[in-house]
Amino acid sequence: MAAPITTISDSKDRQGLNLIAAHSHIRGLGVTPDTLTPKPSADGLVGQQKARKAASVILQMVKEGKIAGRAVLISGPPSTGKTAIATGMSKGLGDDVPFTMLASSEIYSLEMSKTEALEQAFRKSIGVRIREESEVIEGEVVEIQIDRSVTGSNKSGKLTLKTTDMETLYDMGTRMIDSMTKEKVMAGDIISIDKASGRITKLGRSYTRSRDYDAMGPDTKFVQCPDGELQVRRETVHTVSLHEIDVINSRTQGFLALFSGDTGEIRSEVREQINTKVAEWREEGKAEIVPGVLFIDEVHMLDIECFSFINRALEDELAPIVIMASNRGSTTIRGTNYRSPHGLPLDFLDRVVIISTHPYSPDEIREILTIRAQEEEVDISANALALLTKFGQEAGLRYAANLIMTSHLLAQKRRAKEVDSQDVQRSYMLFYDPGRSAKFVAEFQGRFIG
Ligand code: ATP
Repeated sequence: MAAPITTISDSKDRQGLNLIAAHSHIRGLGVTPDTLTPKPSADGLVGQQKARKAASVILQMVKEGKIAGRAVLISGPPSTGKTAIATGMSKGLGDDVPFTMLASSEIYSLEMSKTEALEQAFRKSIGVRIREESEVIEGEVVEIQIDRSVTGSNKSGKLTLKTTDMETLYDMGTRMIDSMTKEKVMAGDIISIDKASGRITKLGRSYTRSRDYDAMGPDTKFVQCPDGELQVRRETVHTVSLHEIDVINSRTQGFLALFSGDTGEIRSEVREQINTKVAEWREEGKAEIVPGVLFIDEVHMLDIECFSFINRALEDELAPIVIMASNRGSTTIRGTNYRSPHGLPLDFLDRVVIISTHPYSPDEIREILTIRAQEEEVDISANALALLTKFGQEAGLRYAANLIMTSHLLAQKRRAKEVDSQDVQRSYMLFYDPGRSAKFVAEFQGRFIG
């Protein structure tokens, strides 16, 4: 099987690009790690404490990697932080735990069936942590930190190496001399061993854990081979998503498709083969599954077929945690004439746990706008902030947040260092919020087309 070329953390970086604008101020869920108690304002998140607590419980379950195939719905009015909370969760996940964001409208395309798009999203959200042991190539310089804190044995003058096969290294004791300076290697020294020649070079001293050591450290093993040769092996671990393995092994697309994003449909036989292979790796202890998170925004945009697909997919052994968001109350289930809460079929709703978000108080709106202004590096006067907060209450948080940058540009035009209420007021006149826009449309209905 071809070597995977992208890792979950790489692709997370790429996904992050989309989020910089709206949610870049969010760094986590802002809860205390031990009790999962949400702080009023932390990690860029303000208020919504109940929802944040609930999200952190789910996050904890994901982190422990013990559960899969659960569905969570975050429901609440527009701009109440549903996506913000999901983003906070994604920041709290380990680097190699996949987090996929999908806007429901993305699945409607001519190139791919809806269910194929969903299947791909599901498989992007399942990580496979693969362990590989490779011999470090001959002549490569291997660095080892000698650490006296490992055992007390250095009291008797012995060196203790923080590597696995200590026996072998003790045997090398006589050779523990810097080949150039002939100095003895001491506890705390960082040395390199050239495997081909056995030459030792002192690189420096460290009594604390050095970053180099972390990079080399516990993954590097010395293995005595039957012929007496000393082999240096390094264990590498990388995590890729099931989808990435599918694409790489799909004969029609190949790995280049990962870069173009144009993966097309993947044949079900390929997926079956991959599942079998991964199951084998797991049995051999070479791989483990890392269930991640699939976040589906605007979930009411999915139709009845999609819901039935998700219902079944959640039963699968290799299923992620599915987190959905909706700002709809009771609405029609797409593809049917039935109404239901959030537009989710009742049998599906039955298996979902619901987290709700609530409208913000003026103080919370002010705090969020302050954080956004800092994030956008905009200085703003108290009066301007008060006016923005008022607009936030009337026309929504998102609208008020958008006025920060436009007001800043207007302030710059009049060469002011700080945004003042006049800039906010002018922005408000220049840019309509949805409410005023609707009123305008109603007033001039006759002049519009259609
Ligand atoms: P919609 O239903 O319209 O999709 P939403 O509930 O997903 O809305 P978000 O997109 O999360 O709303 O919030 C709108 C903006 O306000 C975003 O920039 C978001 O980061 C910010 N925001 C919302 N809630 C909070 C919060 N509690 N703390 C900090 N920022 C927030």
